[in-house]
Amino acid sequence: TVGAVAIDTNGHIAVATSTGGMSGKAVGRIGDTPQIGSGTYADDNIGGVSTTGHGESILKYCLAHSIVKLMENGTDATTATKNAVTGMTSRLKNTAGAITLSKNGDIGIYFSSNRMAWAYIKDDKLYYGIEQNEAHEDGYVKT
Ligand code: ASP
Repeated sequence: TVGAVAIDTNGHIAVATSTGGMSGKAVGRIGDTPQIGSGTYADDNIGGVSTTGHGESILKYCLAHSIVKLMENGTDATTATKNAVTGMTSRLKNTAGAITLSKNGDIGIYFSSNRMAWAYIKDDKLYYGIEQNEAHEDGYVKT
């Protein structure tokens, strides 16, 4: 998966998610990635989410929308992302990951898979990692 979540200076939130799908997938399988609420979801009033992982489980759990719904009910982006991903994994026994951005610019990153590469830029600093609970920080050079 390649996923991105962004907010512009007018507060509009956009999400994009792209995938090659699962290996050995059935011909005609659509998967979770293009389905709004599963692989991708954005609401200017709350936030946006892009997900990766076991598509059939993400679809059943409506993972991206589950995270946004938790945020709508007052959960912060970090907790909402963690709780929904772990909730999906414990219920459906498959792994996933998600990147979340709230309308206030708060970020949530969580994955139940072994690894998920992620990065974001905030306050002119680049943050990135690949393992859980890992965050490198770098200078960010604007071009
Ligand atoms: N979610 C994708 C699928 O099941 C796989 C991925 O790229 O993470 O099609």
